[in-house]
Amino acid sequence: MQLICINCPKGCEMTVERGADGAVKVTGHTCPRGEAYAIAELTNPTRMVTGLVRVAGTRRPLPVKTRTAIPKGKIAEVTNLLANTTVLPPKKIGDLVIENACDTGVDVIATAMCAV
Ligand code: SF4
Repeated sequence: MQLICINCPKGCEMTVERGADGAVKVTGHTCPRGEAYAIAELTNPTRMVTGLVRVAGTRRPLPVKTRTAIPKGKIAEVTNLLANTTVLPPKKIGDLVIENACDTGVDVIATAMCAV
């Protein structure tokens, strides 16, 4: 698999593959961060998820995000959950919105404020 490292502006072009012995081999990286990123992309790719949830009593939605990256395979499920979530105001930045979203072990938190 070819990929470009997103950890710094240098953007190293890397190749990551699993050998016949099952070992993961990375080439093209310039530092250990790139190697770790490439291995994670091959074995367990993750992404941050951002979105909006409804706020009771107002038409203005609340921006939210996952506290950390979640497995790519869970993105659609979490996005669906956000689309079907309504929170009660007030909320401030960092407040818990959804605990353990879709059994990822990752919470969804507010990234903006909403008042009553
Ligand atoms: S491998 Fe290291 S130097 Fe290259 S883009 Fe990634 S973080 Fe930057």
